[in-house]
Amino acid sequence: MTCTVCGEPANEDASQLCNNCEGRFHLRMRDGAGGKDCGDVWINEQYMSLEFACFTCLGTGPGSAGVEPPVGKGH
Ligand SMILES: [Zn+2]
Ligand SMILES: [Zn+2]
Repeated sequence: MTCTVCGEPANEDASQLCNNCEGRFHLRMRDGAGGKDCGDVWINEQYMSLEFACFTCLGTGPGSAGVEPPVGKGH
């Protein structure tokens, strides 16, 4: 099992599946637990269900795709 965000091995008990790309990513399920977060989890208030998304899909992590920072190219 490999994290889709950072490419490092991810244990099942310390990772989740992204609801968007269905890739596995690091996510600590308990505060204080070892490991790291390569995505985020939140509660969908409409369905009262947990939603998971990796940083790649959120566009906030290393290797984030699709979002290019604004670059001044002069004129
Ligand atoms: Zn990771
Ligand atoms: Zn994803």
